[in-house]
Amino acid sequence: MNTDRLSARLGAVAKYVPNGSRVADIGSDHAYLPCYLIKNEQISYAIAGEVVLGPFQSAERNVLSEGLADKISVRMGDGLAVIQPDEVDCVTIAGMGGSLIANILEQGKEKLESVQRLVLQPNINAISIRSWLIENKWELVAEEILEEDGKIYEVIVAEKGDPYNPYFPEQMERDLLFGPFLLQRKEEAFMKKWSLEQKNWQRIYEQLEVATPSVETEEKKQQLLSQLKLAEEVLSDEDSERT
Ligand code: SAM
Repeated sequence: MNTDRLSARLGAVAKYVPNGSRVADIGSDHAYLPCYLIKNEQISYAIAGEVVLGPFQSAERNVLSEGLADKISVRMGDGLAVIQPDEVDCVTIAGMGGSLIANILEQGKEKLESVQRLVLQPNINAISIRSWLIENKWELVAEEILEEDGKIYEVIVAEKGDPYNPYFPEQMERDLLFGPFLLQRKEEAFMKKWSLEQKNWQRIYEQLEVATPSVETEEKKQQLLSQLKLAEEVLSDEDSERT
């Protein structure tokens, strides 16, 4: 991967960045994404935010060596703290756990007033992001799932709007866990991810069955049973297509 050629994962994020937008890429590391978007004239301006010195320096080096310092501002800071109000209209956060992404959004909520689109790519725990979006009145507008180098990634795209769209109220738990758009398509990567999760949950459940009983293990077992039931429904051929 470099500033001319993104990984399939970051390519899927780039696809959802609106043309001509001003973007803040939070946790930018090498700043590959903002450099690529500027070089391809997809966006007009970017902020590359980083909280760790090494990746921040790496982002700065790449932006300088590409001669993009007038279009990409590399800033060191925690999450959305690097953005001033009204500076950007799209925020991308990729390559982290879903809980961390949700936490970054929560901590910097007030910076999102001018932002029209969020493009988020959790490595795990996308459910935390979907829950945050609903609580904060962001509408899920697209989802992607893809496999690259043996890992499966999800991309979640949201805009301000009806937070309950496109969820089915009667199966909220299922939609939050699997993703309402992804559930409709059930692509190969989706089936693979959830078959692996199902096996993992089953293994943990069996370990808890022989563990010393406690309130915590009992709660965890109930949660796993409910997840296993959902996975079984979703992965079965009989699961009917939703309209
Ligand atoms: N976004 C790039 C990608 O998807 O390839 C880099 C992903 S890298 C695994 C995650 C980066 O996020 C790291 O460089 C880390 O330092 C940064 N990071 C983690 N928490 C952050 C925070 N609260 N604010 C800014 N950056 C953060």
